[in-house]
Order: sequence, then C-alpha cells, then structure tokens
Amino acid sequence: MKKHNFSAGPSVLPEEVLEKSAKALLDFDDGLSLIEISHRSKAFVDVMENARSLALELLGLKGKGYKALFLQGGANTQFLAVALNLLENRAGYLNTGTWSDKAIKEARIFREVIEVASSKDSNFNYIPKKYEIPPNLDYFHCTSNNTIFGTQMKEFPKLKVPLVCDMSSDIFSRSLDFSKFDLIYAGAQKNMGPAGTTLVIVKEDVLGKVTRQIPSMMDYKVQISKDSMFNTPPVFAVYTSMLTLEWLKGLGGIEAIEKENFKKSRLMYSEIDLNPLFEGFAANADRSSMNATFTLTDVKLKTDFEDMCKDAGINGLNGHRSVGGYRASMYNALPLGSVETLVDVMSELERKA
Ligand SMILES: *Cc1c(COP(=O)(O)O)cnc(C)c1O
Repeated sequence: MKKHNFSAGPSVLPEEVLEKSAKALLDFDDGLSLIEISHRSKAFVDVMENARSLALELLGLKGKGYKALFLQGGANTQFLAVALNLLENRAGYLNTGTWSDKAIKEARIFREVIEVASSKDSNFNYIPKKYEIPPNLDYFHCTSNNTIFGTQMKEFPKLKVPLVCDMSSDIFSRSLDFSKFDLIYAGAQKNMGPAGTTLVIVKEDVLGKVTRQIPSMMDYKVQISKDSMFNTPPVFAVYTSMLTLEWLKGLGGIEAIEKENFKKSRLMYSEIDLNPLFEGFAANADRSSMNATFTLTDVKLKTDFEDMCKDAGINGLNGHRSVGGYRASMYNALPLGSVETLVDVMSELERKA
C-alpha cells in the first residue's frame, strides 16, 4: 500500500517523478543507465542546463543577474560556503532554530558574526520580529522555514546589504519576491528531489568582494564558470530534481502549488486548533505551511493515536527530538488526501476518547 508520507526529509516526491527516475536508472539514453553515462555527454549536459534554467524560471529570476547551481555537500556545506564567499568582516544572522544555529557556528570559524535576534529563549517556537540590524554588515542571513520547530518567516527585513536565505524546507512552495534575495540555498531532499544535491541561487554581483583565497569546490565563481560541473555532479539527484521542477511547472508553477499548500495547511491547523486532544507548538502567526508541529494534550492517548496512524498508512509523523510530539510535513508533493487521512484519524481519536 502506498503510504501517506509526512516525513520531514528526505520526503515525499511526486509519483510520476519516481516512475521516470526509476526508468532512467535502467534506460536513460539509448540503452544506457543515467548513472553509467558520462556527465559530459550531451544527454546529461542537457539535464543540468534544464534543471538550472527551470529553477530560475520558477523563481521568476531569469534575466535578473542570477545563476543557479546544483552543488554537493548539503545545506550544511553552504553554511560555510556562504561565509567563505561573502564574509570579509562581519555578518548578521537571525537565529530561528537548529539550522540557523549551525549556520552561525560555521560562519564564526571565519569572521565576526552578530546574532541579530534569537528565539532560543522559548525553544524557537516563534520568529523574532522587532530587531535592529547593525550597520556595516557584509550580509544578513536568515532561515525562511524552520523545519524542526514548524515556524516560517512571513516577512523579510528590508536591507541595504545582501540578503542570504536558507530555504531548504520551503523553496518552490510559496510566492515571494525572490529578487529581494541575493543568495538562496536549499538541500534538494525536502521539496525537490533526493538527498545529494543542493540548489544555490546567487546574484552574481555579490561575488568577488572578499580578499581571501577560496578553495575551488567552495568558490561560487568557479562553480559558475564550470556550469555546476567543476567535478562530477550527483547525476541522479540532479535529474530527479529536474523532473520535480518540470512537474511543478506543468502544474502551473509556484502560484498553483501555493494554493494547494494553503488548503493542506489550513485543514491541518484547523484540526489542531479545534480538536481538544491536540495542541500546536509554534506561535500562530509564525506557523509553517510546510511543517506543522503539535503534541497530544493527554499523553495516555499516545499508543492509541500512533496505532491508528499506522493502520491508516501514515508514515513519518514523529516530531524531532528537540521538540517531541508530532510533525506533519506537508511538502509540495504531499497530496491533500494524505492530510485528509491524518485529520480523519485525529477526529476519530476525539470521538473514541
Ligand atoms: C534539512 C535542513 C538543513 C540541512 O540540510 P543538509 O542537506 O542535510 O545539510 C539545513 N537547513 C534547513 C532549513 C533544513 O531543513
């Protein structure tokens, strides 16, 4: 039975994407597998070009001075790559959770990092709103969606310095003016494809301003000049990501998926709010449309609830250890029907209790 996959990452992908990528493993180009041909072959170069082009197109950034790269090492590697490429003196970071915390730690290896504001005081269940951004920053860094805590930034600060954003868990999920960002990065495995590649979108004019020598693999200028193929790229992850981006374009792009995502998150949160057996974790105003975090109000119901979820084919609902409880991740490829199934189980639990 096909499961309802609420996993936080790696996570659900569209059925047709899985079918096409599985097929490409057996026969991609005239009897050869996708993973046994040269990455310099025309067939694969076309895939890479198409993936990079689709990413910019979907974000509305074509012809606006941006480059798209598919790199390796996950978002964690971008924590240091951002600093290596942009941090000359000091940078400001908004600390909204585990991933921001890690980004700060990595950047501090190189230069001064100012933690502009933090919601650590209440286990990151909200997004800090009123904070002063100090002058003379090389850039400001934030995390658009906090996968673990289920909070999401609805507004971004207006800045005179470059804006850098970790969008690993909500890229391509909602309409934003992406041209406000100078650098966006996202590990593929939440909303785009399998683990193994990281999308980096960078405005070229922010590069080349640091005096340090940057190791080639970490240097965005080198990666741009080699069209994301400085070394052998993760061909399967890039191909599958390309298929997901094609799927999204076919649906009508970000605006279309945003409407679907809204239906899912509205249904999910209204059940959390109306059902007395459940309680949301994140502050209402900052709730994420991608990851809903919640707990049972009566722990005695834990076994019942989890057994009922299991019987309904629900997978991946466990909360992260730093929050506990449950987390329903509702990425782009999760069907509305999966949320309906979960909500049915939650109301059934209420009826039985
Ligand atoms: C999952 C996640 C990461 C870590 O990504 P890796 O690709 O595993 O390094 C970083 N930031 C956010 C917001 C995430 O959700």
